[in-house]
Amino acid sequence: MDNPARAPISKTMKLVSDLIIVGGGLNGPALALAAAQGGLSSTVIDALALDTRKDPKFDGRSYALALASQRLLSAIGLWDGLADDAQPMLEIKVTDGRAGEGPSPFFMHFDHAEIEEGPMGYLVEDRYLRYVFLDAMDANPLITLRHNETVVAQDTSPLGAVVTLASGETLRGRVLIGSDGRRSGTAERAKIKRTGWGYGQTALVCAISHEKPHNGIAHQFFMPSGPLAILPLTGNRSSIVWSETEVKAKRIHALPDAKYLDALRPAFGDFLGGIKLAGQRFTYPLNLTIANNFIAERLALIGDAAHGVHPIAGQGLNAGLRDVAALVEVMTLAQRRGEDIGSPLVLERYQQWRRFDTATLAIATDTFNRLFSNDNPILRMGRDLGMGLVNSVPSLRRTFIREAAGLTGDLPKLMTGRQL
Ligand SMILES: Cc1cc2nc3c(=O)[nH]c(=O)nc-3n(C[C@H](O)[C@H](O)[C@H](O)COP(=O)(O)OP(=O)(O)OC[C@H]3O[C@@H](n4cnc5c(N)ncnc54)[C@H](O)[C@@H]3O)c2cc1C
Repeated sequence: MDNPARAPISKTMKLVSDLIIVGGGLNGPALALAAAQGGLSSTVIDALALDTRKDPKFDGRSYALALASQRLLSAIGLWDGLADDAQPMLEIKVTDGRAGEGPSPFFMHFDHAEIEEGPMGYLVEDRYLRYVFLDAMDANPLITLRHNETVVAQDTSPLGAVVTLASGETLRGRVLIGSDGRRSGTAERAKIKRTGWGYGQTALVCAISHEKPHNGIAHQFFMPSGPLAILPLTGNRSSIVWSETEVKAKRIHALPDAKYLDALRPAFGDFLGGIKLAGQRFTYPLNLTIANNFIAERLALIGDAAHGVHPIAGQGLNAGLRDVAALVEVMTLAQRRGEDIGSPLVLERYQQWRRFDTATLAIATDTFNRLFSNDNPILRMGRDLGMGLVNSVPSLRRTFIREAAGLTGDLPKLMTGRQL
């Protein structure tokens, strides 16, 4: 797409902050707050109005935050504001199933006690995460928030990066960050191509309350038309991420509440006793979309703008927070050494750090979804044997647990809970 309204950069243009962050969803705010700890200032621009972003009904998702992500939130001073509303994830049970038939005898069971690091992660509702981010940004003198403003054009040069808002106002920074989600305009305007495809699936998302306690156990049932995740929330509540084919999901979403629960019950089972809806219902179309490059001149992509994956393993936001921690680490180190934080060399360090990890995540989530979202008897036998094998070998089990907790690979400092 052309960049018709773009404002060319000149030295006389006032520098508003070190970083211009397009997208104030989740990864943009996390980056601004982590960068502030490293002494870098940010302007965070989001197209949505503040009221919409603070509306508790705005987004029904809850996130399975890996232990490493919780450590990052703690290192940037946010965890105290979240801890009371976060549900520790103590065990994960993965089962192959068919609606109405109950689970197959093959399963995987991961218990946090096997790695002695604490819970594998925490379930946090989107609304709490969003409030904590907004409040912390508001209180931080290094962060300027611009709500209800859409970026329509951008320009970068060795002098810095400039964005143009729909109002015509221009803002100049040293580095432009695209955290504007799966359909990133920042990437598109920089002519960064993407690779990906739709899954023909939609995630039905809601919170439910149930009679019996969940004991901190997360369940993943692999059903022929897509996975069903039952994720423990505080109290006797769980978050449901129920992936179905697009057509079926549309039909289910249109049902009244009681019929919706009737449709859910055969897959859900009765192990938590009677169930009720505990909030609104939402849908999310599912696709894979990876940016072919995470950087361009004076520009870096983070979060879903860099990589939008299937929620099958609950890893999208965790991967975005790893981007945040890695990018802030390379930029603050560069700043301390007297390097230019937006130089190609510095941004390349970020890309090198994140590319391999992201490709692995994309391949893993894609393969899992293809392997499990069908009823082919040969594949079913193969995956059941695979699950039985992983479950019976303690070292394999521990590898999976460390992976789910986000403790594998070359972790940036913030993800180990250390300050920058
Ligand atoms: C059903 C489902 C369940 C999930 N569960 C989990 C989970 O358990 N664990 C996990 O780790 N991840 C999970 N994820 C993934 C997670 O939701 C995403 O990775 C995360 O929300 C991405 O955040 P983001 O900030 O990168 O992008 P977004 O949240 O998409 O934010 C982008 C922001 O950019 C703004 N914007 C866009 N264009 C412009 C513009 N031109 N100007 C100004 N602003 C703009 C938008 O208004 C928006 O606020 C799940 C995803 C789905 C769909």
